[in-house]
Amino acid sequence: MKNTLTCREAAHLLLEDEDHDITAAERVALQVHVKICFACERFVAQLNFMRRATRAWRKHSETDADASAGPDPGSPG
Ligand SMILES: [Zn+2]
Repeated sequence: MKNTLTCREAAHLLLEDEDHDITAAERVALQVHVKICFACERFVAQLNFMRRATRAWRKHSETDADASAGPDPGSPG
């Protein structure tokens, strides 16, 4: 079993992790790669930022439904 991933494999696992659980071994390999690869480290940071932003938006849209946006039938969702 190899202990390093290519950037392509790392990116694939990162995106898989969004929708599906990845194995513990895959997660470890991913963490190792991100530690040694600046590009993928940046990619992870961007993914984490987007996840946080999405969560914050969901919370906002649930709690603050009476915003002053006016009637908008084509709400994104
Ligand atoms: Zn990489």
